[in-house]
Formats: sequence, structure tokens, C-alpha cells
Amino acid sequence: MKKKLLMVALMSAAMGLASCGQQTASSPEGSHASVSETAGQSVESKESSAPTEASSEVHVHLWGVPTYTWSEDYTECTATVVCELDPSHVITETVAATISSQQPASCNEEGSMSLVANFDNDVFGTYAEDIALPMVPHTLTDFDYKWNYEHTECTAKAYCTVCDDGVEETVTAKGVSDASSAPIKALSMRASFETVGFADQTFDLNIGGSLTDDEDSYIVSSYPDKLVPPTMFIPSSVDDLPVTEIAMSAFYQGGVIEVRIPASVITIGDEAFAYCEHLETIVFGGTKAQWGAITKGNRWSYATDIWEISCSDGILYTEDGIEADWTTDFPTINIGSDEWQVQNEYYVMGILGEIESDKYGNCHLRMRDGSSIYLYGIRSADNALLYQDIPESQRPKKGDVAVFYGEIAYFQTTLQMKNARVMQLNGTVLGTIPQE
Ligand SMILES: [Zn+2]
Ligand SMILES: [Zn+2]
Repeated sequence: MKKKLLMVALMSAAMGLASCGQQTASSPEGSHASVSETAGQSVESKESSAPTEASSEVHVHLWGVPTYTWSEDYTECTATVVCELDPSHVITETVAATISSQQPASCNEEGSMSLVANFDNDVFGTYAEDIALPMVPHTLTDFDYKWNYEHTECTAKAYCTVCDDGVEETVTAKGVSDASSAPIKALSMRASFETVGFADQTFDLNIGGSLTDDEDSYIVSSYPDKLVPPTMFIPSSVDDLPVTEIAMSAFYQGGVIEVRIPASVITIGDEAFAYCEHLETIVFGGTKAQWGAITKGNRWSYATDIWEISCSDGILYTEDGIEADWTTDFPTINIGSDEWQVQNEYYVMGILGEIESDKYGNCHLRMRDGSSIYLYGIRSADNALLYQDIPESQRPKKGDVAVFYGEIAYFQTTLQMKNARVMQLNGTVLGTIPQE
């Protein structure tokens, strides 16, 4: 509250010389009187020293500037002044305050109150001050609360029936845990408003979290009783601790389509989103470099349909940071479409999810959409492409944008290729099936 000083009473008197009492040179005692009649009842003073030749000295107070303090309810005023020559000389006096005029506050304008305090002690005199009275709360109706898409902010709106003003407040929401659930706690976003009348808002995230062993950050996971929502928002903090990890198998086989991962996350556990077959988009709160620095577990996105990872400084198409050039001239055929089944020779372009060896040693590629491609051959076949035969440096890596070219065979439910090549869009051949 702003206090406007109207008048500091008797400044000149306060700064002036006031007699230290009734002492005179004839007084046989020490140099300091312990009580001053003019200063009132509150004066304290140093012990008198033994009489010396200074016994004829008279201490004359040099009062500083008084300070005035109103009681919390403004019914009293206390004045204090300290002697500049000896800070142990202090006078205080408390008197009742009177209100000389008053303008009540409303819900859209501050009020004011003029207070006066008349002190007995001349050092203090009369003190007056204007006090601003804070606005009183609106009388609100027609409440409306809206979250932003990311559920990091909430805006409250209402109308005041007294002043007819619209009232609006937007606050940053905080991730909080339900302490009553354990060991995995239900997580939600909570928005708390300063405006009197707006109620706290809570958005249930439908995911869970648990403290790390060090209890200095949170690991998120699914919550036992709740279905993972199609659009999942992971908070950047829970109970003021950062969210740093997505647990192993956290959302395995979940129905999520889009997930928002905050920049605070530095670890994604094994199979965290594996078999989330509808998962298409990750929106990451940090930069592409930060995304690349995240420790990602085995098969964290296995058999998902992720095609876009949106970072604060651009879009990545794969978790390894390859920005695919989709404008190349390679013909594409959707794996699984009727088109490829009738052709004997064709191209397939896609992003590799996994490359591994099956139990026969055949090279088995899994596409990001979950489709499988065996590079045709078994150990006994002449034209087999065995995983072990591909030099380490040439093996397709997870996240590579690959083009497959070759003859197609369809074996049970998997696509098999022979006389095939796997290459990156820039033409680098990643692997070939040996010619017969
Ligand atoms: Zn003094
Ligand atoms: Zn109002």
C-alpha cells in the first residue's frame, strides 16, 4: 500500500536541540540524566559514569527524524525518535488515531483515508497521513475457464454485477501429484488464480508419475486405473520437481496419437511407446539438438507410426534427426496396399525402425509403420542376404530413410525381397542381396 506523507510534524523541533532535562551545572551527579521530563516516560539512558571533571557538562539531545507507524487496524499511531548523539536515548509514544476524512474503496477504484495522530510530546507534534484503501473484490458471475492446448495455462473470465466490468486472468498451471495415490501418483495440472472469486482449476492428465530414487525429479508412466489419452501432455514439472524421464514400457501398446514431451525429459526408457501403433506425432519442448541428446532405450518407439517430431527449432522426421527429403523422384508404394501385391519389381521408400537378424540369420527390417521386410533368403539359399554378411559400416541403421528395390515375394505375412538393395535417399547403398 502506498502511503503518502502529508506532513512530518515539527521537523524543526525534532531536529532542534531539546534540553536533556532539568540538569544544571549545579547538579552534582554524572553527565547523563536517566530520565528526561520533557522527553517523556520512555527515555532510557546509559548508566552515569563516575563524576569527573566533565560533571559540569550537560548532554543536550539531538533528536533525529521521528518515525511514525500505524497499527494494523489504523486505530493507533506509534512515534519513535532516537538521539543522534546517543542511540540509547529513545522516545516512543503511542496515541489513538483519528480519521479526518474517508473515501471508501469500490471494486474498480482504490479508496483513501486521512488519519491524524496528536502526540503529547513536542518532538512528535501532530502527524497526518493519507492511506490508500485497497479495492474490494468484484462480485463475479458467469464464470468461464479455458485451458490452452498444451494445458500449461488457464484463463478465467467472469463479469462483475457491481461495476459491470469483465474480469480476466491467465495463469501458468503447475503439474501436481495426488499424494494419496502410491507408488505411482496420478498427475494433473493445477491453475490457481489471484483474483478473488476465481476457483482453482484442475486438468487430469490421465498419466502417472513416481519420484526418482534421489527424490529430486519425476518419472512419468501410465496410471494403473486410467486409459492413456489420445493426446498426451507430459508436464515439465510435478510438485515443483522436474520431469526428467519417461519410464520403461511407460505407454506400451497405448492408444496415444500425439504426445507432448517437455524439454526437461532427458531419458526415454526401453519400449516406452512400443506398439503405440497410432502414435504419429511427438511435440518436443526443446531443440533438435536437445532431442538428439535424449537417452533413448531399446525399441522405445518400436512399431509406432511416428512420422513427425516437432522441436522448438524445427521438425525432425525420425528420432535420429534425419530430415527426410520427401520431394525425391523415387516412386513409392505403400507397404500393404494392393498395389505392391501385384507387382513383381518395385521400390519401397520408408524409414527403418529396426534391423535385426532372425533365427536363420536372415536380414529382417522393420519399417516405422510396423511393417516387416525380410530380405529374402535362408541360410541354405544362394542368394540369401544374411545379416552377418553385411559389413558393420553398411548395415542400415534405425532411423535411416531407406529405399528398397528388388523382387518381391510374399511369405506368410511378411514381405520378402530378393535381388534387393537398401539405400539412403542420397544414394548410399546400405545393403544388397548378393547376385546369384
Ligand atoms: Zn541524548
Ligand atoms: Zn466490480
